[in-house]
Amino acid sequence: MCLPFYPQITPILADYFQGGPLGVGRSVCLPFPSADCCWWFFRRSVAARLRAACVRQFPPPLLFLFHPQNPKKTMADFSLLIKPASGDCNLRCRYCFYLPKRELFGPGAHRMSAKVLEAMTRKFLSQPMSLHSFGWQGGEPTLMGVDFFQQARACQRRHGRAGGRIANALQTNGTLLDAAWGRFLAQEQFLVGISIDGPAELHDQSRVYGDGRGSHAEVMRGLAVLREHRVEHNVLTLVSHANEDHAETVYNYLGELGVTYQQYIECVEFAPDGQRRPYALSPGKWGEFLCRIFDLWYPQDTRRVSIRLFDSILSRLLTGVPTICSMSGDCRNYFVIEHNCEVYPCDFQVRPELRLGNILTTDFAALQKLEKYRRWGRKKNPHSATCEACRFLPLCMGDCPKNRRRGQSYLCEDWQLFYQHSIGRFEELAAALGAEWQAKNVQKWPHSQK
Ligand code: SF4
Ligand code: SF4
Repeated sequence: MCLPFYPQITPILADYFQGGPLGVGRSVCLPFPSADCCWWFFRRSVAARLRAACVRQFPPPLLFLFHPQNPKKTMADFSLLIKPASGDCNLRCRYCFYLPKRELFGPGAHRMSAKVLEAMTRKFLSQPMSLHSFGWQGGEPTLMGVDFFQQARACQRRHGRAGGRIANALQTNGTLLDAAWGRFLAQEQFLVGISIDGPAELHDQSRVYGDGRGSHAEVMRGLAVLREHRVEHNVLTLVSHANEDHAETVYNYLGELGVTYQQYIECVEFAPDGQRRPYALSPGKWGEFLCRIFDLWYPQDTRRVSIRLFDSILSRLLTGVPTICSMSGDCRNYFVIEHNCEVYPCDFQVRPELRLGNILTTDFAALQKLEKYRRWGRKKNPHSATCEACRFLPLCMGDCPKNRRRGQSYLCEDWQLFYQHSIGRFEELAAALGAEWQAKNVQKWPHSQK
């Protein structure tokens, strides 16, 4: 399955975790809620008191996080999610939502041309942002070969501006990684997400080749390549019907593999008749899964293991800004660039009616001004009456629209279960991190004590 690629940790949250595995200051990847969302969050946070205290204590360089937008900027920051090989893939994962997208683009292999790569890179890097984040995804982006990515880096060097930062992230099934990939990814400092759904008996139920053969052994070989070349990586685990009852097995397995950056993504898919797909999460299982993972993580791994959702909750509590788009108040966080130059607003919404334009003939500023794009962004709100009355709304934000049916999240009860179970301990952890951060930084920023 092709899945969104997310940040290891926001730089500001990394600062809280200085000294632990999270203190790496990883570049932000995708999708990244824009600064526009922050003010809305700031007013409606469940942790308003904590954050107000943080505002008083934070040094000026961090205060921008509480500001709706830098007035000098003309556009909200955004990142790119690029599909250089569209939905083409060497696997046939049973739950993949992107494989069928190939039908939109006609038969044959789908590959991004040098012309599209050049135009996309030039136009993106001309945007006045301090960080330009390229997320390479599919299908399987490694089908493009190392040469394509070498061209991409050359293009970035040609069009990058002095002092600007460029981050590259690659989401892969891991099966095609070899020594040449390892060398390239390490040299160019790509952050790699590799998909592992648990030990072979769980992983191989869904992540299969066309002949039904499981891919686990090949993925392990790919993981070894990343380790051998010291490529920064995280593991993405899709939680589906196959592994929904095995939280402990999955978490312990990733622990045995030494994976300290983990992402758990919910598999929610409906058939055209509205019925849940058989491979998707059963009702109630997502909440249970998250509670179990939290109970394994909280007592001993908070400083050792980064879990993307948990990072986002802590970031939300500490800074007002979540790091996951589904916790944001607006869906305009990134653009999807398909291999053939078409632009869409979200990985889950590559549909003809949501096509925004063509990157060869338009630019990002024009795309952001489109009424169609604004309408799309507002789709995240308003929320149902149930959500408006829910005390977890400032965190959950009514969930991702793709998970909603008749205006309400299919996972609503799961989110409530999980937040009820964990929010008190998240707030305690956030308060402790805030206090630690302040103690460490008093000397650096003496004026923050005024
Ligand atoms: S629909 Fe919105 S919340 Fe869901 S993945 Fe897309 S951008 Fe994120
Ligand atoms: S937990 Fe349910 S009611 Fe509360 S905000 Fe989320 S989807 Fe809405």
